[in-house]
Amino acid sequence: LEAKEEFEYSSLAVDVMRPRRADPALAVLTQEGMTVGEVETLVESTHYSGFPVVVSQESQRLVGFVLRRDLLISIDNARKRQEGVVSASQVVFTEHAPTQPDDAPPPLRLRGIMDLSPFTVTDHTPMDITVDIFRKLGLRQCLVTHNGRLLGIITKKDILKHMAQIANRDPESILFN
Ligand code: ADP
Repeated sequence: LEAKEEFEYSSLAVDVMRPRRADPALAVLTQEGMTVGEVETLVESTHYSGFPVVVSQESQRLVGFVLRRDLLISIDNARKRQEGVVSASQVVFTEHAPTQPDDAPPPLRLRGIMDLSPFTVTDHTPMDITVDIFRKLGLRQCLVTHNGRLLGIITKKDILKHMAQIANRDPESILFN
């Protein structure tokens, strides 16, 4: 048990977050520039419960977090009810609608479904602190940043898996590695 605690204290957010090295990149949405069709393709080609929203692919600055469920419901509703929202419509999470050519289809504004202050830790945050935050705030997921750039995500299940892995490890190997 002591060995387990020792290991737990020495792991950092970067050791638990996804994606791992070999995984596909983090699936993110940009705050503007993506079409309804592109967002639908991204959401439908993955099973993630949520998606970070960033300023741009280049900057990877975090803007917020949207739940898969809310995205699908909003797009579905907009397609049914909002005059003119089609696959080519731009999805915008910004406060103000972007300027578009006159002949562009109306944008779909989704700022309202975005969590504007998702919880974040840095890649170097010790896991004991991260676990404590999850427990105390009842988080489902938390985002990981480095110098203000989005790096990854940690879900409650990722933490449980990490803890199970530690529990299964040979205590000797933990103490002497
Ligand atoms: P859970 O961990 O409860 O199954 P998810 O289905 O959201 O929750 O996540 C499944 C796995 O994918 C987790 O390991 C998580 O860290 C990772 N993940 C979650 N969201 C994303 C995302 N947008 N891009 C890449 N990986 C993600």
